[in-house]
Amino acid sequence: MELPIDKSLLRSLPKVDDLMKNSIILNLLQTRPRTVVVDAVRKTIEGLRQEILSGSYTGSPEDIYQLVVKKTSDLIAAETKPNLRRVINATGVVLHTNLGRALMSYAARDAVDAVASSFCNLEINLNTGRRGSRYEPVEEIITRLTGAEAALVVNNNAAAVLLALGTMAKGKEVIVSRGQLVEIGGSFRIPEVMEQSGAMLVEVGATNKTHPHDYQKAISEDTALLLHVHTSNYRIVGFTRETTVNELVQIGQSHQIPVMSDLGSGFLVDLAPYGLPQEPSVQEVVAAGADVVTFSGDKLLGGPQAGIIVGKRYWIEKMKKNPLTRAVRINKFTVAALEATLREYLDKDNVLENIPTLRMLTEAPGALLKRAEELAAQLKAKVAYPAEVQVISGTSQVGGGSMPTAELPTYLVTCMVQHLSVEEMSAQLRLAEPAVVGRVQDNKYQVDLRTVQPEEVELLAEVIARVINSGEVSGR
Ligand SMILES: *Cc1c(COP(=O)(O)O)cnc(C)c1O
Repeated sequence: MELPIDKSLLRSLPKVDDLMKNSIILNLLQTRPRTVVVDAVRKTIEGLRQEILSGSYTGSPEDIYQLVVKKTSDLIAAETKPNLRRVINATGVVLHTNLGRALMSYAARDAVDAVASSFCNLEINLNTGRRGSRYEPVEEIITRLTGAEAALVVNNNAAAVLLALGTMAKGKEVIVSRGQLVEIGGSFRIPEVMEQSGAMLVEVGATNKTHPHDYQKAISEDTALLLHVHTSNYRIVGFTRETTVNELVQIGQSHQIPVMSDLGSGFLVDLAPYGLPQEPSVQEVVAAGADVVTFSGDKLLGGPQAGIIVGKRYWIEKMKKNPLTRAVRINKFTVAALEATLREYLDKDNVLENIPTLRMLTEAPGALLKRAEELAAQLKAKVAYPAEVQVISGTSQVGGGSMPTAELPTYLVTCMVQHLSVEEMSAQLRLAEPAVVGRVQDNKYQVDLRTVQPEEVELLAEVIARVINSGEVSGR
Protein backbone atom coordinates (compact mmCIF):
# COMPACT_ATOMS: atom_id res chain seq x y z
CA MET A 1 0.00 0.00 0.00
CA GLU A 2 1.37 3.43 -0.98
CA LEU A 3 1.83 6.02 1.71
CA PRO A 4 0.24 9.41 1.04
CA ILE A 5 2.92 11.91 0.00
CA ASP A 6 3.12 15.16 1.88
CA LYS A 7 2.70 17.69 -0.95
CA SER A 8 3.82 20.58 1.28
CA LEU A 9 7.25 18.94 1.54
CA LEU A 10 7.58 18.69 -2.24
CA ARG A 11 6.41 22.29 -2.61
CA SER A 12 9.11 23.39 -0.13
CA LEU A 13 11.92 22.10 -2.35
CA PRO A 14 13.68 25.27 -3.57
CA LYS A 15 14.28 26.10 -7.24
CA VAL A 16 17.81 25.91 -8.59
CA ASP A 17 17.75 29.58 -9.66
CA ASP A 18 16.70 30.71 -6.19
CA LEU A 19 19.46 28.71 -4.54
CA MET A 20 22.04 30.22 -6.84
CA LYS A 21 21.31 33.55 -5.10
CA ASN A 22 21.94 32.18 -1.60
CA SER A 23 24.99 33.81 0.04
CA ILE A 24 26.65 30.51 1.00
CA ILE A 25 26.19 29.13 -2.51
CA LEU A 26 27.45 32.42 -3.98
CA ASN A 27 30.51 32.02 -1.81
CA LEU A 28 31.16 28.57 -3.27
CA LEU A 29 31.14 30.15 -6.72
CA GLN A 30 34.23 32.17 -5.76
CA THR A 31 36.40 29.05 -5.83
CA ARG A 32 34.41 26.52 -7.89
CA PRO A 33 33.23 26.56 -11.50
CA ARG A 34 29.53 27.47 -11.91
CA THR A 35 28.74 24.15 -13.62
CA VAL A 36 30.10 22.18 -10.64
CA VAL A 37 27.98 24.20 -8.19
CA VAL A 38 24.81 24.03 -10.31
CA ASP A 39 25.28 20.27 -10.70
CA ALA A 40 25.66 19.84 -6.95
CA VAL A 41 22.54 21.91 -6.26
CA ARG A 42 20.52 19.83 -8.76
CA LYS A 43 21.82 16.55 -7.34
CA THR A 44 20.98 17.63 -3.79
CA ILE A 45 17.44 18.74 -4.67
CA GLU A 46 16.85 15.53 -6.60
CA GLY A 47 18.19 13.46 -3.67
CA LEU A 48 15.82 15.17 -1.26
CA ARG A 49 12.89 14.78 -3.66
CA GLN A 50 13.55 11.02 -3.68
CA GLU A 51 13.74 11.00 0.14
CA ILE A 52 10.39 12.77 0.35
CA LEU A 53 8.78 10.46 -2.22
CA SER A 54 10.01 7.36 -0.43
CA GLY A 55 8.80 8.71 2.89
CA SER A 56 12.28 8.62 4.47
CA TYR A 57 12.46 12.41 4.97
CA THR A 58 11.36 13.10 8.52
CA GLY A 59 12.05 16.85 8.87
CA SER A 60 9.63 19.70 8.51
CA PRO A 61 9.00 21.77 5.34
CA GLU A 62 10.69 24.85 6.90
CA ASP A 63 14.03 22.98 7.29
CA ILE A 64 14.31 22.02 3.64
CA TYR A 65 15.87 25.19 2.26
CA GLN A 66 18.77 25.25 4.77
CA LEU A 67 19.21 21.51 4.39
CA VAL A 68 19.68 21.86 0.62
CA VAL A 69 22.27 24.60 1.17
CA LYS A 70 24.21 22.49 3.70
CA LYS A 71 24.01 19.29 1.66
CA THR A 72 25.19 21.14 -1.43
CA SER A 73 28.25 22.56 0.38
CA ASP A 74 29.03 19.14 1.85
CA LEU A 75 28.67 17.47 -1.53
CA ILE A 76 31.00 19.96 -3.20
CA ALA A 77 33.52 19.64 -0.38
CA ALA A 78 33.41 15.83 -0.64
CA GLU A 79 33.65 15.79 -4.43
CA THR A 80 36.61 18.14 -4.58
CA LYS A 81 38.51 16.47 -1.72
CA PRO A 82 41.46 14.49 -3.12
CA ASN A 83 41.29 10.74 -2.62
CA LEU A 84 44.92 10.53 -1.55
CA ARG A 85 45.42 12.97 1.26
CA ARG A 86 47.38 13.98 4.27
CA VAL A 87 47.22 11.84 7.41
CA ILE A 88 48.57 12.59 10.88
CA ASN A 89 50.19 9.35 11.98
CA ALA A 90 49.31 8.92 15.64
CA THR A 91 49.95 5.16 15.67
CA GLY A 92 53.58 5.29 16.81
CA VAL A 93 54.50 2.94 13.95
CA VAL A 94 57.39 4.83 12.37
CA LEU A 95 57.45 2.98 9.04
CA HIS A 96 53.75 2.41 8.47
CA THR A 97 53.41 0.84 5.02
CA ASN A 98 49.70 1.72 4.85
CA LEU A 99 50.51 5.35 5.66
CA GLY A 100 53.20 5.62 2.99
CA ARG A 101 56.27 4.43 4.94
CA ALA A 102 59.13 6.93 5.29
CA LEU A 103 58.59 10.68 5.65
CA MET A 104 60.93 12.67 3.41
CA SER A 105 63.60 15.00 4.75
CA TYR A 106 63.29 18.71 4.00
CA ALA A 107 66.07 18.37 1.43
CA ALA A 108 64.28 15.47 -0.28
CA ARG A 109 61.01 17.42 -0.44
CA ASP A 110 62.79 20.39 -1.99
CA ALA A 111 64.53 18.14 -4.50
CA VAL A 112 61.21 16.59 -5.59
CA ASP A 113 59.64 20.02 -5.86
CA ALA A 114 62.51 21.23 -8.04
CA VAL A 115 62.24 18.40 -10.59
CA ALA A 116 58.43 18.56 -10.52
CA SER A 117 58.36 22.22 -11.44
CA SER A 118 61.19 22.35 -14.00
CA PHE A 119 62.84 20.23 -16.62
CA CYS A 120 65.90 18.42 -15.30
CA ASN A 121 68.99 16.55 -16.52
CA LEU A 122 67.47 13.13 -15.86
CA GLU A 123 69.14 11.50 -18.86
CA ILE A 124 71.50 14.09 -20.21
CA ASN A 125 75.08 14.57 -19.12
CA LEU A 126 75.42 18.33 -18.80
CA ASN A 127 79.23 18.16 -19.08
CA THR A 128 79.26 16.45 -22.46
CA GLY A 129 75.77 17.29 -23.72
CA ARG A 130 75.35 13.63 -24.55
CA ARG A 131 72.86 11.09 -23.31
CA GLY A 132 73.37 10.24 -19.64
CA SER A 133 72.00 7.64 -17.26
CA ARG A 134 69.22 8.35 -14.75
CA TYR A 135 71.08 6.21 -12.22
CA GLU A 136 74.25 8.31 -12.32
CA PRO A 137 73.22 10.94 -9.73
CA VAL A 138 72.76 8.27 -7.06
CA GLU A 139 75.23 5.54 -8.08
CA GLU A 140 78.33 7.36 -6.95
CA ILE A 141 76.91 8.30 -3.54
CA ILE A 142 75.58 4.80 -2.91
CA THR A 143 78.94 3.21 -3.65
CA ARG A 144 80.71 5.79 -1.49
CA LEU A 145 78.37 5.12 1.45
CA THR A 146 78.28 1.32 1.17
CA GLY A 147 81.77 0.52 -0.06
CA ALA A 148 80.32 -1.44 -2.99
CA GLU A 149 81.86 -1.43 -6.49
CA ALA A 150 78.64 -0.54 -8.27
CA ALA A 151 74.96 0.23 -7.70
CA LEU A 152 71.59 0.23 -9.43
CA VAL A 153 68.22 1.48 -8.19
CA VAL A 154 64.83 0.07 -9.22
CA ASN A 155 61.19 0.60 -8.27
CA ASN A 156 61.27 -1.26 -4.93
CA ASN A 157 63.14 -4.03 -3.19
CA ALA A 158 60.72 -6.68 -4.45
CA ALA A 159 61.70 -5.66 -7.99
CA ALA A 160 65.36 -5.62 -6.97
CA VAL A 161 65.18 -9.24 -5.78
CA LEU A 162 63.28 -10.31 -8.91
CA LEU A 163 65.77 -8.59 -11.20
CA ALA A 164 68.81 -9.95 -9.35
CA LEU A 165 67.52 -13.54 -9.34
CA GLY A 166 66.44 -13.34 -12.98
CA THR A 167 69.83 -11.97 -14.03
CA MET A 168 72.03 -14.25 -11.93
CA ALA A 169 70.13 -17.53 -11.88
CA LYS A 170 67.50 -17.84 -14.62
CA GLY A 171 67.01 -21.54 -15.43
CA LYS A 172 69.49 -22.45 -12.70
CA GLU A 173 69.35 -23.36 -9.03
CA VAL A 174 69.40 -21.02 -6.05
CA ILE A 175 70.09 -22.43 -2.60
CA VAL A 176 68.14 -20.92 0.31
CA SER A 177 67.73 -21.92 3.94
CA ARG A 178 64.28 -23.18 5.00
CA GLY A 179 64.46 -20.65 7.81
CA GLN A 180 64.55 -17.79 5.30
CA LEU A 181 61.60 -18.50 3.00
CA VAL A 182 60.09 -15.18 3.97
CA GLU A 183 56.70 -13.71 3.14
CA ILE A 184 56.91 -9.93 3.18
CA GLY A 185 53.24 -9.14 2.72
CA GLY A 186 51.06 -8.76 -0.32
CA SER A 187 52.21 -11.58 -2.54
CA PHE A 188 55.93 -11.28 -1.99
CA ARG A 189 57.14 -14.68 -0.91
CA ILE A 190 60.63 -15.91 -1.67
CA PRO A 191 59.50 -19.21 -3.31
CA GLU A 192 57.05 -17.35 -5.55
CA VAL A 193 59.44 -14.57 -6.49
CA MET A 194 61.98 -17.26 -7.32
CA GLU A 195 59.50 -18.97 -9.63
CA GLN A 196 58.63 -15.67 -11.30
CA SER A 197 62.31 -14.95 -11.93
CA GLY A 198 62.81 -18.28 -13.70
CA ALA A 199 65.26 -19.53 -11.08
CA MET A 200 64.77 -22.84 -9.27
CA LEU A 201 64.58 -22.93 -5.52
CA VAL A 202 66.63 -25.49 -3.64
CA GLU A 203 65.64 -25.49 0.02
CA VAL A 204 68.17 -26.63 2.59
CA GLY A 205 68.31 -27.12 6.36
CA ALA A 206 65.44 -26.94 8.81
CA THR A 207 63.28 -24.01 9.87
CA ASN A 208 65.38 -23.35 12.98
CA LYS A 209 68.80 -24.57 11.90
CA THR A 210 70.73 -24.45 8.67
CA HIS A 211 74.45 -25.31 8.78
CA PRO A 212 77.17 -24.48 6.25
CA HIS A 213 77.39 -28.18 5.30
CA ASP A 214 73.70 -28.10 4.32
CA TYR A 215 74.56 -25.62 1.57
CA GLN A 216 77.73 -27.50 0.62
CA LYS A 217 75.83 -30.78 0.17
CA ALA A 218 73.21 -29.08 -2.07
CA ILE A 219 75.71 -27.53 -4.47
CA SER A 220 75.58 -29.05 -7.95
CA GLU A 221 76.56 -28.15 -11.49
CA ASP A 222 73.27 -26.28 -11.78
CA THR A 223 73.83 -24.05 -8.74
CA ALA A 224 73.98 -20.42 -9.79
CA LEU A 225 73.57 -18.61 -6.49
CA LEU A 226 73.61 -18.87 -2.71
CA LEU A 227 70.87 -16.62 -1.36
CA HIS A 228 70.69 -15.19 2.15
CA VAL A 229 67.39 -13.48 3.07
CA HIS A 230 67.28 -11.28 6.11
CA THR A 231 64.30 -12.42 8.18
CA SER A 232 63.37 -8.81 8.69
CA ASN A 233 59.77 -9.21 9.82
CA TYR A 234 60.04 -12.22 12.16
CA ARG A 235 62.53 -13.88 14.49
CA ILE A 236 63.44 -17.50 15.03
CA VAL A 237 64.57 -17.79 18.63
CA GLY A 238 65.71 -20.62 20.86
CA PHE A 239 67.55 -23.65 19.41
CA THR A 240 68.78 -21.98 16.25
CA ARG A 241 71.70 -21.80 13.84
CA GLU A 242 71.83 -19.51 10.85
CA THR A 243 74.62 -19.70 8.32
CA THR A 244 75.97 -16.16 8.10
CA VAL A 245 76.70 -14.19 4.94
CA ASN A 246 80.41 -14.49 5.86
CA GLU A 247 80.14 -18.28 5.88
CA LEU A 248 78.16 -18.29 2.64
CA VAL A 249 80.85 -16.16 0.98
CA GLN A 250 83.52 -18.70 2.00
CA ILE A 251 81.46 -21.57 0.58
CA GLY A 252 80.68 -19.57 -2.55
CA GLN A 253 84.31 -18.68 -3.15
CA SER A 254 85.47 -22.26 -2.88
CA HIS A 255 82.91 -23.32 -5.52
CA GLN A 256 82.96 -20.10 -7.58
CA ILE A 257 79.32 -19.44 -6.90
CA PRO A 258 78.11 -15.89 -6.20
CA VAL A 259 76.32 -14.95 -2.97
CA MET A 260 73.37 -12.59 -2.72
CA SER A 261 71.92 -11.03 0.42
CA ASP A 262 68.38 -9.62 0.49
CA LEU A 263 68.64 -7.32 3.47
CA GLY A 264 65.09 -6.02 3.23
CA SER A 265 65.43 -3.02 5.46
CA GLY A 266 68.97 -1.99 4.73
CA PHE A 267 70.43 0.71 6.91
CA LEU A 268 73.64 2.67 6.94
CA VAL A 269 73.83 3.96 10.53
CA ASP A 270 74.06 1.71 13.57
CA LEU A 271 71.01 2.36 15.76
CA ALA A 272 72.00 -0.05 18.56
CA PRO A 273 73.29 2.82 20.76
CA TYR A 274 69.69 4.12 20.73
CA GLY A 275 68.20 0.92 22.04
CA LEU A 276 67.37 -0.68 18.70
CA PRO A 277 68.38 -4.27 17.90
CA GLN A 278 71.85 -5.01 16.58
CA GLU A 279 71.51 -5.91 12.90
CA PRO A 280 74.07 -5.99 10.10
CA SER A 281 74.37 -2.73 8.13
CA VAL A 282 74.66 -2.62 4.34
CA GLN A 283 78.36 -1.72 4.65
CA GLU A 284 79.00 -4.81 6.81
CA VAL A 285 77.32 -7.18 4.38
CA VAL A 286 79.20 -5.63 1.45
CA ALA A 287 82.47 -5.90 3.39
CA ALA A 288 81.67 -9.56 4.17
CA GLY A 289 82.05 -10.14 0.43
CA ALA A 290 78.47 -10.62 -0.77
CA ASP A 291 78.40 -10.26 -4.57
CA VAL A 292 74.98 -8.59 -4.56
CA VAL A 293 73.03 -6.91 -1.74
CA THR A 294 69.47 -5.59 -2.09
CA PHE A 295 67.48 -3.34 0.26
CA SER A 296 64.55 -0.91 0.34
CA GLY A 297 64.82 2.85 -0.04
CA ASP A 298 61.81 3.61 2.15
CA LYS A 299 62.40 1.42 5.17
CA LEU A 300 65.18 2.23 7.64
CA LEU A 301 67.06 4.24 5.02
CA GLY A 302 64.27 6.81 5.29
CA GLY A 303 64.03 7.75 1.61
CA PRO A 304 61.54 7.27 -1.24
CA GLN A 305 60.16 3.92 -2.36
CA ALA A 306 63.03 2.24 -4.19
CA GLY A 307 64.98 -1.00 -4.40
CA ILE A 308 68.70 -0.46 -4.10
CA ILE A 309 71.06 -3.07 -5.51
CA VAL A 310 74.76 -2.85 -4.69
CA GLY A 311 77.63 -5.21 -5.35
CA LYS A 312 80.22 -6.41 -7.83
CA ARG A 313 80.39 -4.40 -11.04
CA TYR A 314 80.13 -7.54 -13.19
CA TRP A 315 76.67 -8.41 -11.83
CA ILE A 316 75.36 -4.84 -11.67
CA GLU A 317 76.33 -4.28 -15.34
CA LYS A 318 74.56 -7.50 -16.27
CA MET A 319 71.41 -6.35 -14.46
CA LYS A 320 71.49 -3.00 -16.23
CA LYS A 321 71.31 -4.85 -19.55
CA ASN A 322 68.36 -7.00 -18.47
CA PRO A 323 65.18 -5.73 -20.22
CA LEU A 324 63.33 -6.10 -16.91
CA THR A 325 65.34 -3.13 -15.59
CA ARG A 326 63.46 -0.85 -17.95
CA ALA A 327 60.14 -2.20 -16.68
CA VAL A 328 61.02 -1.51 -13.05
CA ARG A 329 62.96 1.71 -13.53
CA ILE A 330 62.68 4.64 -11.17
CA ASN A 331 61.21 8.02 -12.09
CA LYS A 332 62.75 11.46 -11.64
CA PHE A 333 61.00 12.05 -8.31
CA THR A 334 62.63 8.95 -6.88
CA VAL A 335 66.05 9.93 -8.20
CA ALA A 336 65.66 13.42 -6.72
CA ALA A 337 64.41 12.27 -3.30
CA LEU A 338 66.91 9.43 -3.07
CA GLU A 339 69.90 11.59 -3.96
CA ALA A 340 68.88 14.19 -1.36
CA THR A 341 68.31 11.48 1.27
CA LEU A 342 71.67 9.85 0.59
CA ARG A 343 73.43 13.23 0.78
CA GLU A 344 72.11 13.56 4.34
CA TYR A 345 74.20 10.48 5.21
CA LEU A 346 77.38 12.26 4.12
CA ASP A 347 76.81 14.66 7.04
CA LYS A 348 77.29 12.09 9.81
CA ASP A 349 76.81 14.57 12.66
CA ASN A 350 73.34 15.61 11.62
CA VAL A 351 71.93 12.60 9.78
CA LEU A 352 69.85 11.37 12.73
CA GLU A 353 68.24 14.79 13.01
CA ASN A 354 67.79 15.41 9.27
CA ILE A 355 66.15 12.13 8.26
CA PRO A 356 62.67 12.00 9.84
CA THR A 357 62.63 8.19 10.11
CA LEU A 358 65.92 8.17 12.03
CA ARG A 359 64.86 11.13 14.16
CA MET A 360 61.62 9.41 15.15
CA LEU A 361 63.41 6.14 15.91
CA THR A 362 66.03 7.77 18.12
CA GLU A 363 64.00 10.55 19.76
CA ALA A 364 64.66 10.80 23.49
CA PRO A 365 61.77 9.88 25.85
CA GLY A 366 62.05 13.32 27.47
CA ALA A 367 61.18 15.05 24.20
CA LEU A 368 58.24 12.67 23.64
CA LEU A 369 56.94 13.36 27.13
CA LYS A 370 57.15 17.09 26.56
CA ARG A 371 55.18 16.77 23.30
CA ALA A 372 52.58 14.56 25.02
CA GLU A 373 52.11 17.09 27.81
CA GLU A 374 51.76 19.88 25.28
CA LEU A 375 49.09 17.97 23.35
CA ALA A 376 47.23 17.07 26.55
CA ALA A 377 47.24 20.70 27.70
CA GLN A 378 45.96 21.92 24.33
CA LEU A 379 43.22 19.29 24.27
CA LYS A 380 42.05 20.25 27.75
CA ALA A 381 41.88 23.87 26.64
CA LYS A 382 40.07 23.18 23.35
CA VAL A 383 37.60 20.40 24.19
CA ALA A 384 34.23 21.81 25.25
CA TYR A 385 32.85 18.61 26.80
CA PRO A 386 34.01 16.86 30.00
CA ALA A 387 36.88 14.72 28.76
CA GLU A 388 39.33 12.39 30.42
CA VAL A 389 42.73 13.33 28.94
CA GLN A 390 45.82 11.57 30.26
CA VAL A 391 49.51 11.14 29.45
CA ILE A 392 50.62 7.52 29.77
CA SER A 393 53.75 5.57 28.87
CA GLY A 394 53.74 2.78 26.28
CA THR A 395 55.71 1.38 23.36
CA SER A 396 56.08 2.28 19.69
CA GLN A 397 57.09 0.01 16.83
CA VAL A 398 59.56 0.42 13.99
CA GLY A 399 57.09 -1.05 11.45
CA GLY A 400 57.52 -1.73 7.73
CA GLY A 401 58.51 -5.29 8.55
CA SER A 402 61.68 -4.00 10.24
CA MET A 403 63.02 -4.95 13.66
CA PRO A 404 59.78 -6.72 14.73
CA THR A 405 60.96 -7.34 18.28
CA ALA A 406 62.03 -3.77 18.99
CA GLU A 407 59.90 -2.01 21.61
CA LEU A 408 60.59 1.69 21.77
CA PRO A 409 59.48 3.34 25.02
CA THR A 410 57.15 6.22 24.27
CA TYR A 411 54.47 8.52 25.68
CA LEU A 412 50.85 8.60 24.58
CA VAL A 413 47.92 10.89 25.17
CA THR A 414 44.67 9.05 25.86
CA CYS A 415 41.32 10.66 25.42
CA MET A 416 37.81 9.60 26.40
CA VAL A 417 34.49 11.45 26.33
CA GLN A 418 31.00 10.37 27.38
CA HIS A 419 29.06 11.26 24.25
CA LEU A 420 31.32 9.56 21.70
CA SER A 421 32.47 5.92 21.77
CA VAL A 422 36.16 5.27 21.02
CA GLU A 423 35.22 3.52 17.79
CA GLU A 424 33.09 6.49 16.77
CA MET A 425 35.86 8.91 17.63
CA SER A 426 38.40 6.84 15.71
CA ALA A 427 36.11 6.69 12.65
CA GLN A 428 35.40 10.42 12.67
CA LEU A 429 39.08 11.28 13.09
CA ARG A 430 39.91 9.15 10.05
CA LEU A 431 37.42 11.20 8.03
CA ALA A 432 38.56 14.54 9.45
CA GLU A 433 40.66 17.11 7.62
CA PRO A 434 43.53 16.33 7.95
CA ALA A 435 42.80 12.67 8.63
CA VAL A 436 44.12 11.24 11.89
CA VAL A 437 45.00 7.57 12.37
CA GLY A 438 45.66 6.64 16.00
CA ARG A 439 45.28 3.62 18.25
CA VAL A 440 42.26 2.23 20.04
CA GLN A 441 43.32 0.36 23.15
CA ASP A 442 41.83 -0.31 26.60
CA ASN A 443 38.64 1.39 25.41
CA LYS A 444 40.52 4.67 24.96
CA TYR A 445 41.58 6.65 21.96
CA GLN A 446 45.37 6.84 22.06
CA VAL A 447 47.82 9.12 20.30
CA ASP A 448 51.48 8.03 20.22
CA LEU A 449 53.59 11.20 20.05
CA ARG A 450 56.59 9.45 18.46
CA THR A 451 55.10 9.71 14.98
CA VAL A 452 53.32 13.03 15.52
CA GLN A 453 55.68 15.68 14.15
CA PRO A 454 56.48 18.58 16.51
CA GLU A 455 54.80 21.05 14.14
CA GLU A 456 51.63 18.91 14.05
CA VAL A 457 50.76 19.04 17.75
CA GLU A 458 48.59 22.13 17.63
CA LEU A 459 46.78 21.01 14.48
CA LEU A 460 46.18 17.56 15.97
CA ALA A 461 44.66 19.09 19.12
CA GLU A 462 42.40 21.22 16.92
CA VAL A 463 41.21 18.25 14.85
CA ILE A 464 40.49 16.07 17.88
CA ALA A 465 38.69 18.93 19.62
CA ARG A 466 36.66 19.67 16.47
CA VAL A 467 35.50 16.03 16.28
CA ILE A 468 34.61 15.94 19.97
CA ASN A 469 32.97 19.36 20.02
CA SER A 470 30.83 18.71 16.95
CA GLY A 471 29.24 16.15 19.24
CA GLU A 472 27.76 14.42 16.24
CA VAL A 473 27.17 10.74 16.61
CA SER A 474 27.03 9.49 13.08
CA GLY A 475 24.32 7.01 12.18
CA ARG A 476 26.69 4.16 11.38
C1 LIG B 1 60.55 -5.36 2.79
C2 LIG B 1 61.30 -6.49 2.20
C3 LIG B 1 61.24 -6.74 0.83
C4 LIG B 1 60.38 -5.93 -0.10
O1 LIG B 1 60.82 -4.61 -0.15
P1 LIG B 1 59.86 -3.49 -0.82
O2 LIG B 1 60.77 -2.32 -0.92
O3 LIG B 1 58.74 -3.31 0.12
O4 LIG B 1 59.43 -3.99 -2.13
C5 LIG B 1 61.97 -7.79 0.33
N1 LIG B 1 62.73 -8.58 1.14
C6 LIG B 1 62.81 -8.35 2.49
C7 LIG B 1 63.66 -9.25 3.32
C8 LIG B 1 62.10 -7.30 3.07
O5 LIG B 1 62.18 -7.08 4.37
